[in-house]
Amino acid sequence: MDSNANPGLSFWERETFFKEVDYVIIGSGIVGLNAAIHMKERVPNAHVIILEKGMLPTGASTRNAGFACFGSISELLDDLEHLPENEVLALVEKRWKGLQRLQQLTGVQLKYDECGGYELFTRRDIGSYIQCMEALESFNEKLEPIIGEKTIYENADDCISHFGFRGVNHIIVNKAEGHIDTGGMMKALLAQAHERGVHIYNGADVDSLDDDGLHIHVELRDGRKIKGRKCLIATNGFTHRLLSSLDLTPARNQVLITRPIPDLKIKGTFHYDKGYYYFRNVGNRILFGGGRNLSPKNEETDQFGTTPLIRKGLLRMLDEIILPNTTYEIDMWWSGILGVGQVKKPIIKYISDNLAVSVRMGGMGVAIGSLVGIEGADLLLK
Ligand SMILES: Cc1cc2nc3c(=O)[nH]c(=O)nc-3n(C[C@H](O)[C@H](O)[C@H](O)COP(=O)(O)OP(=O)(O)OC[C@H]3O[C@@H](n4cnc5c(N)ncnc54)[C@H](O)[C@@H]3O)c2cc1C
Repeated sequence: MDSNANPGLSFWERETFFKEVDYVIIGSGIVGLNAAIHMKERVPNAHVIILEKGMLPTGASTRNAGFACFGSISELLDDLEHLPENEVLALVEKRWKGLQRLQQLTGVQLKYDECGGYELFTRRDIGSYIQCMEALESFNEKLEPIIGEKTIYENADDCISHFGFRGVNHIIVNKAEGHIDTGGMMKALLAQAHERGVHIYNGADVDSLDDDGLHIHVELRDGRKIKGRKCLIATNGFTHRLLSSLDLTPARNQVLITRPIPDLKIKGTFHYDKGYYYFRNVGNRILFGGGRNLSPKNEETDQFGTTPLIRKGLLRMLDEIILPNTTYEIDMWWSGILGVGQVKKPIIKYISDNLAVSVRMGGMGVAIGSLVGIEGADLLLK
């Protein structure tokens, strides 16, 4: 007898849980859940299942910083180096509409707070600051029809002393940016999916996929085989394990959160160094992450974990710039995995007759994830 044999499916399991599956979604992050919810809204009788390898969604959606952002000026200027202006504005619109959809679906559990997003510039960023200020009026004009506000970006140097930063020379605020409760968002999305009759199977690690033209055959790492009519891959930073042909690289991000700090003045979302560093308040704690530019090759990984180099870099910035003269303690560290590529645009496309992908969310999946899921679902529903 082979005691290590994979369980495979029993007759009962096949007949009860996996008979005539219409849509298989791989991954239960923001994208997979939104795709499933949309499918059930469009076709309530469809048999929709999500296969998720983790006990919880375990990539980026439950592990992010919760910025509800659509782009700081320096990020938009950077996007303009890689994409034509109409595509950059279309991305901003997608992020903005995605946030509206997220608010609609998750309601109060999102705890959306339009607290403002602040971009920090130190002495060495003076060139970037001047470029951003020169582009400010033009972005305000171009974004007004999308966001519906006249002055989205403005100088906020007067906030520097209020927040208590050291070595920060300039700040530009994005008044329409805010933060959310990441856990609340995901809990609400999972509940919405369950409520609509989506079946989510956790511990289902997909190993391979085969499209025979009529069906998709999915094999799990434990040997179970599941058949469905169509399949959407929503595995973001882990996609290269299933499909190696896409321009998509995993990128680990390391994050810390402090214990509560009495009288904390910092409130809002904060970006520094082209978005490589980001921090926000969570009540009176500071959540701070990033720094993968300190060790870019090493952080091109889908393995979770934190490293001494990046921990040290983040702590130094906390001491020197963000919380100088403040006593604080670290509560915990964690990491999450992004999916990035040469271009900051998601990939939503067919791979074969019955297989599509909705991946490469970059650092703005909270904003675009819902629409990227919906667009992937629509490809399969066509
Ligand atoms: C630390 C960090 C901070 C971030 N901060 C922000 C922010 O403030 N604002 C913002 O907009 N974005 C932020 N992001 C990015 C954002 O979280 C992501 O873009 C978004 O969550 C991606 O959602 P997703 O559904 O595409 O992928 P994920 O959430 O990664 O979901 C993919 C799922 O697929 C599952 N999976 C993978 N492989 C398999 C397999 N073979 N079989 C079965 N299941 C599989 C994974 O377990 C995972 O649950 C951050 C990301 C990180 C890591």
